[in-house]
Amino acid sequence: MGTPECVTHEHEVLLIGAGGAGLRAAIEAASTGVNVGVVCKSLLGKAHTVMAEGGMAASMGNVDDRDNWRVHFSDTMRGGQYLNNWRMAQVHAQQAADRVRELEAWGAIFDRTRDGKILQRNFGGHKYPRLAHVGDRTGLEMIRTLQDHGIHQGIEFYMEYTVLEILMDGDRVAGAVGYEREKGRFHVWKAPAVVLATGGIGRAFKITSNSWEYTGDGHALAYRAGAELKDMEFVQFHPTGMVWPPSVRGILVTEGVRGEGGVLRNSEGRRFMFDDIPDLYKNQTASDPEEGWRYVTGDKDAQRPPELLTRDHVARCIVREIREGRGSPHGGVFLDIAWIKEKMSKADAHIRKKLPSMYHQFKQLAGVDITKDPMEVGPTTHYAMGGVNVDGETQMSTVNGLFACGEVAAGLHGANRLGGNSLSDLVVFGKLAGEHAVKWAKQNPSPTVDEGQVQAACRAALEPMEREHGESPYEVQASLQEMMQDKVGIVRTQNEMGEAVESIAALRTKAQNTAVPGNREYNPGWHTSVDLHNLMVVSEAVARSGMDRKESRGAHFREDFPAKDEAHANHNTITKRGPDGEMTVERREIPTMPTELSDIIKEMG
Ligand SMILES: Cc1cc2nc3c(=O)[nH]c(=O)nc-3n(C[C@H](O)[C@H](O)[C@H](O)COP(=O)(O)OP(=O)(O)OC[C@H]3O[C@@H](n4cnc5c(N)ncnc54)[C@H](O)[C@@H]3O)c2cc1C
Repeated sequence: MGTPECVTHEHEVLLIGAGGAGLRAAIEAASTGVNVGVVCKSLLGKAHTVMAEGGMAASMGNVDDRDNWRVHFSDTMRGGQYLNNWRMAQVHAQQAADRVRELEAWGAIFDRTRDGKILQRNFGGHKYPRLAHVGDRTGLEMIRTLQDHGIHQGIEFYMEYTVLEILMDGDRVAGAVGYEREKGRFHVWKAPAVVLATGGIGRAFKITSNSWEYTGDGHALAYRAGAELKDMEFVQFHPTGMVWPPSVRGILVTEGVRGEGGVLRNSEGRRFMFDDIPDLYKNQTASDPEEGWRYVTGDKDAQRPPELLTRDHVARCIVREIREGRGSPHGGVFLDIAWIKEKMSKADAHIRKKLPSMYHQFKQLAGVDITKDPMEVGPTTHYAMGGVNVDGETQMSTVNGLFACGEVAAGLHGANRLGGNSLSDLVVFGKLAGEHAVKWAKQNPSPTVDEGQVQAACRAALEPMEREHGESPYEVQASLQEMMQDKVGIVRTQNEMGEAVESIAALRTKAQNTAVPGNREYNPGWHTSVDLHNLMVVSEAVARSGMDRKESRGAHFREDFPAKDEAHANHNTITKRGPDGEMTVERREIPTMPTELSDIIKEMG
């Protein structure tokens, strides 16, 4: 193999990822006048954020004026089972409303209340209606707004490029190396500050709501650069994905359906969620639990159906119904929004207005009219709460000059994320990451790029095309996804996760021996072979961290340890630090919460 040629670019701040987090960080950095570059795997405007449906959480109090940042903070901490970075949860709750108003000022058109305020809808785990939304296309509006605003800021965009490695200058970041997906040419971006905004890891599993881009690249890039990953075992399985037909299995059915009144029923027609209301939330005075909307959230005025309990809880109840033979014909349960006709005139038009994407999704992909018939739904891998360990104030990782924001960063959501808290996370922490990346870049300019690191990354990427015979990257990927779904899925045990770690070691050997026909141009097999190395890192991190957490908490459910155990109220930190640079898991204590925050939690009950 000769020496691969590279085109070099220079920026003060480099963003990897152009979803909500990356774009918001880029806008913030560019607003200070520094030279900003954004690299993304897909076309601008196509990041995963565009798929977000239900809305973004912010305690604006437009629908219920009892809402405020303190209630939002408390809900987020409870949803995260108190493993959240409390400082991030505080900043998020305090700043989310300003970020929504900022989007509106930049041109986002949210749904409105009758008196013209931004409308907010109910979502699981939120005490009051809190999700600012645009029908069920909120992510599309967010991306459109940020993109329109961003392209006028002088930001340089590199579309359809994949970053392969972070470049280091000693213990600080020096930039990144990657390639053009269409033509295969290599590029180096020299930059003193790099912000990872690469999204999640859903493609490590077989059934997922996530787009093709979610191969855990940012997590793996950070890990290989020496950064810490935190609480990787917490993978959210959203309770409602499509289950039929097989080609669409996993596609999300937004929680907005339940927020608008959709109910879950089993094959016997029973609302099984009433079987499982935790005592804390039960309306002790209700004689008939199924009568109307009697379930309450601890506040007698804030009534909620049990379908809006936290996602982990609802997902486990659905799995139980399916396992115990009360599922729908294609292995799910029924989600019914059509029933609201009983209490509302013009319900058909209402459903089509509030849930237009869901209406079309089911009509076109499954031949089901959701204004008339129930949907079949089941859990789907949705969101990574774990990720790059960042400082709650600056979003810098444990590597100097390497920042992370959005889904790739850990902290805000703890052991489980509340719906709607991701979109607000992106803009709150995207802004902060951009601001602090600029500060770092100004104080630490001009890193040196090591040509040896660049060449090593390019050569490693080209290896699959140099081999005449070897493994198929598609087969390795499919085996990994199947295995992860089976052994590290929604219900976990020590033995199965141990088997997963062994399988990953075997699959990694295969991933290192893939053979890809063709050349660098337009070669999807090559892209898949590159992704595999990242998928192996995140899969191993989830399995190892999961083995270490011998309790059930939030999204991590262990059949062999079904209870929460305060001895495990800590963080699991993953580093590449073993004697041979292998993955190690270390437990860290949760920093003590300041009294003013713990008082809020006590006050909220
Ligand atoms: C169907 C669906 C509906 C959802 N609905 C909601 C909702 O209503 N409310 C809510 O709060 N959350 C929702 N979520 C979650 C939310 O959409 C995501 O968590 C969020 O959009 C992630 O944004 P991000 O900016 O972190 O990453 P993304 O938007 O995914 O952007 C990642 C970017 O990184 C780039 N990238 C990745 N790897 C590389 C690489 N190696 N090199 C270069 N670029 C790279 C990608 O190309 C992309 O530009 C939903 C998720 C799904 C799947």
